[in-house]
Amino acid sequence: MVAKTALITGITGQDGGLLAKFLLDQKYKIIAPTRFNPDKSKLSTLGIAMHQNIEYIVYSQWSDFEGIFKQYKPDEIYHLAAMSHVGQSHIDPDKVFEVNTMWTIELLKAIKNTTPKSRFFFASSCEIFQKDLAAPVSEKASKAPNNPYGISKLSAHLMVQYYRDVVGLFTCNGILFNHESEIRDKSFVSKKICREVARIVKNGGGPLFLGNIEAKKDWGYAPDYVQFFQSILQQEKAQDYVLSTGVLHSVQDMVNMAFKSLNYTITWQGEGLACKAINNNGEIVVSIKQAFFRPLDKRFLIGDNSKAAKKLDFNIMTPFKDWVKSMTLIEYKKLS
Ligand code: NAP
Repeated sequence: MVAKTALITGITGQDGGLLAKFLLDQKYKIIAPTRFNPDKSKLSTLGIAMHQNIEYIVYSQWSDFEGIFKQYKPDEIYHLAAMSHVGQSHIDPDKVFEVNTMWTIELLKAIKNTTPKSRFFFASSCEIFQKDLAAPVSEKASKAPNNPYGISKLSAHLMVQYYRDVVGLFTCNGILFNHESEIRDKSFVSKKICREVARIVKNGGGPLFLGNIEAKKDWGYAPDYVQFFQSILQQEKAQDYVLSTGVLHSVQDMVNMAFKSLNYTITWQGEGLACKAINNNGEIVVSIKQAFFRPLDKRFLIGDNSKAAKKLDFNIMTPFKDWVKSMTLIEYKKLS
């Protein structure tokens, strides 16, 4: 028996795949609009690429969504597709704004015109917040993004609120802090660290190059997060929620944890650009590169998840050390 119909944009991404897996377990039917010739490798890794309850639809333009909504009448819509890389957004700000903001507006308009009872979840981001806030940030914290990705997400976030508060649709923002997993794209630093550490331990070779290893993030585990996207849409009232761990870890912590999970000893030496990690043979295994420093890499936002904890029972937190270990071991096994 099919429980509900959910439409997911971005099913080929990390969160889309993990959410689809979770919803399939809840007996949902999933409508999955994708671009032409989608890369289903993450869905294959999760074992659901060919699942009978996923119906893929190739769309060519955003205006196609009105017809898709009319045809499938989804109970729930999860809008996860986005140009999700903050660094890339400095290079392509116009494209990022078009995809992340204009597309979201197009979907909200289409819901209003076709299926106004559909519930809508938008993957907003902690990048919308003012950067120098010392206290943990809740839903109400001051918003002042300083990169094109954050600006695009905040604009869409405000439109989601407009369609809820003024137009009357059931639309919600999940304000997501960083969350990683074994299927994270290789362009993200967590995946890069786990892959490179596995490679160094298994095969040796040159060092892992990183930027600011003192940068800290409120880092969570994606499988813990995605199930709460669904919870947000089951509430009586449409609202926005911060999903975060409330704990900071540095890039250096992640490197240490990845090496530790493969029982490999490293020692740090030096400071700043001269900082490096060496192994027991005196070989350099981590080195710092100025080119990998991100603009404004020095702010360390931490999330206040108390609203989600109270209203959604958001409290499943796989420990940092466990998921970094899991990501690293999987990369190591791929090399065996
Ligand atoms: P992801 O792995 O990068 O997946 C992005 C998805 O968006 C993919 O399915 C991709 O499809 C699609 N996409 C990218 N560019 C597109 C374009 N120009 N047109 C149409 N589709 C496009 O991202 P994620 O980690 O799953 O994140 C899911 C959502 O949460 C995103 O909106 C992201 O901004 C937001 N978020 C994530 C985090 C996090 O830590 N993961 C934190 C805050 C917010 P293709 O496969 O066709 O490229």
